[in-house]
Amino acid sequence: MSDVRKNIEALKAIAADPRKQLDRVLAEGKKAIGVIPYFAPEELVYAAGMVPFGMWGAETQVSESKRYFPAFYCSIVHTALDLAIKGEFDGLSAVMIPLTCDTLKGMGANWRYGVKNIPVIDVAYAQNRTIPAGEEFTESQFKKIRGQVEEIAGVKISDKALAEANKIYNANRKECLRFTELAASHPQTVSLTDRAMVLKARYFMERDAHTALLKAVNDALAALPEEPVKGKKIVTTGIIADSPELLGILQDNGFVIAADQIVHESVDFRALADEGPGAIHAMAERLNAVKGTSVLFDPAKSRNTELAEIAKAAGADGVLWVLTKFCDPEEFDYVPAKKVLDEAGIPLLLIEVDQQMVNYGQIRTAIETFREML
Ligand code: SF4
Repeated sequence: MSDVRKNIEALKAIAADPRKQLDRVLAEGKKAIGVIPYFAPEELVYAAGMVPFGMWGAETQVSESKRYFPAFYCSIVHTALDLAIKGEFDGLSAVMIPLTCDTLKGMGANWRYGVKNIPVIDVAYAQNRTIPAGEEFTESQFKKIRGQVEEIAGVKISDKALAEANKIYNANRKECLRFTELAASHPQTVSLTDRAMVLKARYFMERDAHTALLKAVNDALAALPEEPVKGKKIVTTGIIADSPELLGILQDNGFVIAADQIVHESVDFRALADEGPGAIHAMAERLNAVKGTSVLFDPAKSRNTELAEIAKAAGADGVLWVLTKFCDPEEFDYVPAKKVLDEAGIPLLLIEVDQQMVNYGQIRTAIETFREML
């Protein structure tokens, strides 16, 4: 097996079995803190010597969470809460729950009632996060959370450790971005599932460990000649797009992801933190720099123009909007985005996905038709 394949498979194995990864961390005597999306200050966890553990739901059928959330809530909160109630996350020392959308605002209370063995750390951001008062508020929240994390870890987080965490996270962000570009230029070596799983693995690993493996993948890919794109190039946008079924359908139809504006992927790692002194302020500033998502307040809807720019820069033939079912913020963004993309002459396909979905027949038909149209 080539080096690139060996390291991709190692990362895919981690992404495929997060519980095994959590058990490894606990067996090493470390503490882990769950991190519900979006943009929680997990650098604090890392700086305290603990391991952040991403919780973006899972492809599973829910039962217990239906006692807490109506059926028409998105699958991310349903599946994350359901797995927690069933004990899948036992061993976590706490869970960070950001209050970034109306659905997540109810998560903290439900979690406290349904999952009594894992305490909640609320993560509040200012709605107007980019104005000075907003930035100050976010920073004050991060300082409060710093104290909560220190209490769980039983250690003080030094400014030096936090600055180092920012550096380690930045290094990982840069390597992730490099990987998305190399994956796009090596579509025969890196399948769409490889791409998604390699990126996903970072949520269950210490970031420096993920960076080391990913750098090995990237260096090996960079040494290979670029590979021809035989099908059509697309840009994906949305919250999460890691369904193996969906990626398999795109792969079957010859699509290559030239770039993405997915929160679970590039939106999370495009913005970097300042690496100078004032690490906690740098974390709040980084949040201001995050663009291209419906989950952070964006009155100018700059996500849409950014999407058109990403598509043009990547030479994409079209955009695939992967709408997480029952996600209001994404639904509200779609109409203005369609207008902008129509005006830019960029074809757009909307598909609706759900982590509990079993029948992809309609999606397959829509994607096949999109391919024909392009
Ligand atoms: S932003 Fe959308 S997908 Fe994410 S938790 Fe809120 S409703 Fe669910």
